[in-house]
Amino acid sequence: MKQRLFTPGPTPLPEEVRLSQAKEILHHRSKEFSVVFQEVRQGLKYIFQTENEVLLFTASGTGAMEAVIANLFSSKDKVLAIRGGKFGERWADIAKIFGVEAIPLDIEWGSTVNIHLIEKKLDADPKIKAVFTQLVETSTGVAYDIQGMAEIVKKRDAVLIVDAVSGLGAQPLLADEWGVDVVVGASQKALMIPPGLSFVSLSTRAWRLVENSDLPKYYWDFKKTKLTQEKNQTPYTPAVSLICALRESLNLLKKEGWGNVIKRHAQLAEATRKAVLALGLELFGEANSNVVTAIKVPLRVDEKNLRKIMRGKYGVNVAGGQGELSGKIIRIAHLGWMDFCDIIMAISSLEMALWELGYPLKLGKGVAAAEEVLKE
Ligand SMILES: *Cc1c(COP(=O)(O)O)cnc(C)c1O
Repeated sequence: MKQRLFTPGPTPLPEEVRLSQAKEILHHRSKEFSVVFQEVRQGLKYIFQTENEVLLFTASGTGAMEAVIANLFSSKDKVLAIRGGKFGERWADIAKIFGVEAIPLDIEWGSTVNIHLIEKKLDADPKIKAVFTQLVETSTGVAYDIQGMAEIVKKRDAVLIVDAVSGLGAQPLLADEWGVDVVVGASQKALMIPPGLSFVSLSTRAWRLVENSDLPKYYWDFKKTKLTQEKNQTPYTPAVSLICALRESLNLLKKEGWGNVIKRHAQLAEATRKAVLALGLELFGEANSNVVTAIKVPLRVDEKNLRKIMRGKYGVNVAGGQGELSGKIIRIAHLGWMDFCDIIMAISSLEMALWELGYPLKLGKGVAAAEEVLKE
């Protein structure tokens, strides 16, 4: 049976990306690799919407998150971490390991952030050096107001650090124009390549923190990485084949155009939400992101069974809930290499599986609602 990924990472791979992996490996100190890497560096700047160098690491997204803390801070520094889900918790957890004091700003899972709360916290404690957030909190499917946060943070002596691992290339984020200081991304989400690479862009203000940081790092040293990258090299052996794959996916994204890529994600997300509501289901919280739609599982329906039928009978793999949301929600990602027909398939299999489990619905109603959005 064909298996299809509707998970918020990893995501499906375009053919160009898959074929690039069949080629003989390049040596990372060869001229050929440098040419590929130069192209990738340019492409990353385009996707990050920044003129700043985008640092590349062979690691999943969490590696780059840890690297940001190790490179920008010193022990006993104070930072503010927005905690509205699994990934918000991760920022605070990493900070703690490094002896950085992370003051949590807890928001209910599924809610957006009231940015005035951030303003209040910063004004109450001018020692706070950074605000950590997600662009999209993937565990709840909620996108945060990064532009609004940037407005607040840049007026103060602090930097804004955004985990955009799931949102980069799906949700609007204009790093330079909005004044976002640090953006973290990874390969296996909207960038449409396998897991194993992560990325960090830094503003001038963020580089100033790097100069003063006293936390230990060797492999993750940002200064060394930047200097080496500017010569179209990496300090150590990178995941060469993933970098070749990235060149292919960045080319596809450039051809489609950043704005169109974001628009496509927005439309697929809108179609998914409309379909869910048409089926009489409820969205979880303020589910609003272009990345993933979190759906409450009706009380009479067993979440494990629902996903099992979708996967086993229709080859449609969706995600369950993480942490406290386990068993309570399913998450359908509309992320990366996705189009109109993919979403129709996901909705159709959701309808069929719910119907099989005895949930009262009229088959085709969700699909029809999605078609109404997509036909425009
Ligand atoms: C996927 C994801 C990550 C990174 O997870 P890894 O498994 O380390 O790649 C980080 N933040 C968010 C918001 C994510 O969606």
